Amino acid sequence: MDTDVDAEIVIVGAGICGLATALALHRFSLLQGIKTNIFISYHLPKKMTKMYVFRGRFVSLNEVEPMEFPFGVNKEFRCLKRTDLVKVMADNLPTRTIRTNCQVLSVELDPVTKFPHLMLSNGSVLQAKVVIGCDGVNSAIASMFGLHRTTLRLFSTSVARGFTNYPNGHRFSSEFVMMSKGQVQLGRLPVTDKLVYWFVTRLRTSKDSKIWKDPVLIRQSLMESMKGFPEEAMEMMRNSKLSFLHLTELKYRPPWDLLFNNFRKGTVTIAGDAMHPTGPFVAQGGSASIEDAIVLARCLAQKVFDNKNKTEETAINSAMAEEAFDQYVKERKMRNFWLSFHSFLVGKKLDTTSSIIRFIILAIMSTLFRDPDWHSRYHCGNL
Ligand SMILES: Cc1cc2nc3c(=O)[nH]c(=O)nc-3n(C[C@H](O)[C@H](O)[C@H](O)COP(=O)(O)OP(=O)(O)OC[C@H]3O[C@@H](n4cnc5c(N)ncnc54)[C@H](O)[C@@H]3O)c2cc1C
Repeated sequence: MDTDVDAEIVIVGAGICGLATALALHRFSLLQGIKTNIFISYHLPKKMTKMYVFRGRFVSLNEVEPMEFPFGVNKEFRCLKRTDLVKVMADNLPTRTIRTNCQVLSVELDPVTKFPHLMLSNGSVLQAKVVIGCDGVNSAIASMFGLHRTTLRLFSTSVARGFTNYPNGHRFSSEFVMMSKGQVQLGRLPVTDKLVYWFVTRLRTSKDSKIWKDPVLIRQSLMESMKGFPEEAMEMMRNSKLSFLHLTELKYRPPWDLLFNNFRKGTVTIAGDAMHPTGPFVAQGGSASIEDAIVLARCLAQKVFDNKNKTEETAINSAMAEEAFDQYVKERKMRNFWLSFHSFLVGKKLDTTSSIIRFIILAIMSTLFRDPDWHSRYHCGNL
C-alpha cells in the first residue's frame, strides 16, 4: 500500500451496487492479482442466494370484464429477496472489508497529490487513491460532479410496499400478478404459503407528506385509491402488516443528464443509483447497479493486469484509475441512458391524466421499445 494513503480503494455505500463492486474487485484480485489493502483474500465465494421464478400475469381492470395476459421476460419473473442478496454478497467479502457506522459527508481532490479526501461524519478525514460512490439516490459523492440532490426530479407517482400474513394460508397461485386500474397498479407476489409481498403505485396526494410516517393512515389512503379492485386485493391491503408498510416518493435523474455529464473526476466515479436513479417502473435499477459493478471492476482490473505485464507493478496508480473509469463511464453510458429513458416514459405515462400525452408516450414507446424484453438482451461481460 502507498504510504500516503489510508486506503487504496474506498467504496462509499454498502447497498447492492457497493457490495457487488467490492465483490467484483475481490474476484478480480483472485484472477488477476490486484493488490489493494481492502480486497486481499483467497477464499472463493462460498454462499449462494435463492432465486424464485414466477409466471407473470397482467390483469387490466379498466374494462367491464377484466382482461388478462401473460407478461415478464419469457412470461416469467426471476426474483431475489434484497436482504438475501445483500447478505450473501457481504458474507462473501473478506473480513474487515466493510466499515459500518461511517457516513461520508463529502469528497475533495487534494490540490497537490490529486488523491481524494473523504470527510467522515465522525470528523476524521480519509485519504484514498480511488473512490467509487455507490451511495444511492441521495449520493453525497454525486455532488462532486455538480449533481446535487436538488437536481433530482420527482415522479407524480409514489409507491407503497408491504407484506400480508395469512395465518391459515392464502389461496393465491405461485405467480406474480400485476393489476391495473386507471393510474393505480397493484403487484402481488407470494413469498411463502402464508406470506404475500405486494406494492401499490398511485398518484401522490397532498396528504402523503403528512401520512408517510403513519402506517395506519398509509393503509387507509391506499384502500381509498384502490376502490374497484377485487375483494381479495382489498382484503390483502386491510390485513397488511403495519410494521412493514412503507410509502416512498420516487426520484429520478433525467435520462439526458446521463448523456451530458462526465461521471469521472480525478480518481473518483459513481455507480448504481448514485449515477442513475430511475424509479422502479422497469424494475432494472438493481440489475443495472450490478452491471455497473462488473464493468467497473473489469476496466480497473484490466489496467492493473496490463501494467503488471509491462512493469511487474501491481499497485493502482492515478493514471490507470482515470483511464479505467473513463472506459467504464463510456461503456455504461448508452445502456444506462436507455434503461433510464424507458423507466422515465413508463413513469410519465402513469403520472399523466392527459390522454394526449399518454398517446404520445405510447407512440414513442412502441417505436423505441417495441420488444418489451429488450433490457434482458444485454451482456455486461464476465467476471
Ligand atoms: C419500490 C422499488 C422497487 C424496486 N424494484 C426493483 C426490481 O424489481 N429490480 C431491480 O433491479 N431494481 C429495483 N429497484 C431499484 C433498486 O432497488 C435500486 O436501483 C438499487 O437498490 C440501487 O442500489 P445502490 O446500491 O446503487 O443504492 P442503495 O441500495 O440505495 O444503497 C446505497 C447505500 O449507500 C449508503 N449510503 C448512502 N449515503 C451514504 C454516505 N454518505 N456515506 C456512507 N454510506 C452511504 C446507504 O445507507 C445504502 O446502504 C426498486 C426500487 C424501488 C424504490
